[in-house]
Amino acid sequence: MCRDEISIDYLGYVYDCDFNQIMNLLAKTPDGENLTVAKLLEAGSLDLINKVQTVAYCYGCTAGTGSNCGGALV
Ligand code: SF4
Repeated sequence: MCRDEISIDYLGYVYDCDFNQIMNLLAKTPDGENLTVAKLLEAGSLDLINKVQTVAYCYGCTAGTGSNCGGALV
């Protein structure tokens, strides 16, 4: 999910994926500010997201190739 989708909450805050949204782990700008839809529209680019916020549950997801997130068991 974090490879080709983002999640946005009702206040306009942006998350790298829905897991991060549930955990309230917001996407950050390169300056470390919380990313919002308004900031993305102002920049006109998704390049504001230059680092995905990762935590321990990413090992169970691995962005589509793990055991969750639409991935497959291998
Ligand atoms: S790898 Fe981590 S950040 Fe990426 S979609 Fe999965 S849980 Fe989200």
